[in-house]
Amino acid sequence: DSEKSLNFLEHIIEEDLKNGFSKDALRFRFPPEPNGYLHIGHASSICLNFGLGLRYKAPVNLRFDDTNPAKEEQEFVDAIKRDVEWLGYKWDTERYASDYFQQLYDWAILLIKEGKAYIDSQTSEEMAAQKGTPTEAGTESPFRNRSVEENLKLFEGMKAGKFEEGMHVLRAKIDMTSSNMLMRDPIMYRVLHKAHHRTNTDWCIYPMYDWTHGESDYIEQVSHSLCTLEFAMHRELYDWFLNQVVDENKVRPKQREFARRNLSHTVVSKRKLARLVEDGVVDSWHDPRMPTISGLRRRGYSPESIRNFADTIGIAKRDNLIDVSLLEFQVRDHLNKVAPRVMGVLDPLKVVITNYPEGEEEWLDAENNPEDEAAGSRKVPFSREIYIEKEDFREEANKKFFRLKLGKEVRLKNAYIIKAESCTKDTEGNITEVQCIYDPKSKSGSGTEESLRKVKGTLHWVSIEHALEAEVRLYDRLFTDESPDTHKDKDFMEFVNPDSLKTITGYLEPSMKDLKVGTQVQFQRLGYFCVDPDSTSEKLVFNRTVGLRDSWAK
Ligand code: ATP
Ligand code: MG
Ligand code: MG
Repeated sequence: DSEKSLNFLEHIIEEDLKNGFSKDALRFRFPPEPNGYLHIGHASSICLNFGLGLRYKAPVNLRFDDTNPAKEEQEFVDAIKRDVEWLGYKWDTERYASDYFQQLYDWAILLIKEGKAYIDSQTSEEMAAQKGTPTEAGTESPFRNRSVEENLKLFEGMKAGKFEEGMHVLRAKIDMTSSNMLMRDPIMYRVLHKAHHRTNTDWCIYPMYDWTHGESDYIEQVSHSLCTLEFAMHRELYDWFLNQVVDENKVRPKQREFARRNLSHTVVSKRKLARLVEDGVVDSWHDPRMPTISGLRRRGYSPESIRNFADTIGIAKRDNLIDVSLLEFQVRDHLNKVAPRVMGVLDPLKVVITNYPEGEEEWLDAENNPEDEAAGSRKVPFSREIYIEKEDFREEANKKFFRLKLGKEVRLKNAYIIKAESCTKDTEGNITEVQCIYDPKSKSGSGTEESLRKVKGTLHWVSIEHALEAEVRLYDRLFTDESPDTHKDKDFMEFVNPDSLKTITGYLEPSMKDLKVGTQVQFQRLGYFCVDPDSTSEKLVFNRTVGLRDSWAK
């Protein structure tokens, strides 16, 4: 790769290699907290870390940052593993911060013995009041100078379950005057009488994020610990905690920060996504409208399209908002190459071909994918009565309307040229049927002069008698606002789009009968669709992944 294509984190790594850091010692991790499902923001971090692993042939651990039993569950662990695998990545080893609870505890004892940590027995309100402000020094806790013996006794008591939640905490003794508020004697442990999804009730004290993360990186010998910008201020503390334990013969992990990726017209925060589920705005974390990996998968997104999206937007130093149309572009681009073309009509208008013999049918050849010759062809039935889209017919229209109008011809995809002669209306004036005649010599692919005749406009259609009825779910943006969670005086829930889901009945060519759940197809001229898990052999259910064109850009 050329120097230019490196992102700024890769430049940092290259610099380290130039300065003598061994390439063999490079090691990365992706560290999700199992308190929800992964979303498209996490995909950026996954592609970054696993991408570095591939680039440098270095191991990448999947590490669950599971230090808060109140919010974490095995269900999320399983889902996260499934999603990372589905995205196409392999971790070196599966790790849990909870595997290190004993080591972290032992190190904490060491800090206490060295006079670098103490038990504070104030309330959280009292401690908060002593924190000070960034420009004003904090006040030292009256418990700051407890003896080592007393600290050890209390800490052991905390571990043994002798105290209620909130009675005591272990704090690092750093600097109550630091300009970095995080350095003002941060809490290392708190009592939580909660069972943990892995350690069960073995522990009733749990380590805080800052005390856990760097030490876990060190235990795993992660060389570059990449996190999002909100942790930039934590770096000083990350380093301080490492200083207490590192052995100079071992790799000392380095924290570096990159910008969070925000996607327009949605929210990328597990906490906020959880609210959408809890309030019933969507039916689950896997609702196709959710920006979760599992929601996108159900919507019909391919792993390739998500990886390409992450690669294209790259890594940034400043927080930013990426328009969701970039994600849609990637899925369209990928599905265009791989998705078979089929015909389906979503808003049907009946067309009767009056010169086609009654009761007859024929099965015509249809190419599966013009982008992929190997995809072959299939047969589609044609008969006297077909459906076309309502919007593809007008009694009269100007010259730019290259669809069906009275007295004009169009080609039916994979079939014949037809000409509209008359139409029928109901009492309200709605068109209910169009009568056409067809040119029997114009069959697509037959090689006749008539079959090669150029007519403006090609329509998709289905034979009514053979059509399969399907439930088709059409999705729109989940929020009407571009950045729903950035308004100071309004809750993001106020911007939920009330019309984000529309369910209709579509009529599909019979080849779609036994498609497997998840199969992606292009409904010609309409967009990309995939088979939803709700689909059964009695009732097909399709999700619209994305339209053929970016309809929002107009
Ligand atoms: P959330 O607020 O959604 O819970 P989080 O950062 O708390 O996100 P974690 O499970 O702790 O979620 O994140 C795992 C990794 O993914 C972290 O390194 C985190 O920085 C990264 N990450 C999370 N959200 C984004 C995002 N929007 N863009 C880039 N990276 C992200
Ligand atoms: Mg988190
Ligand atoms: Mg979070």
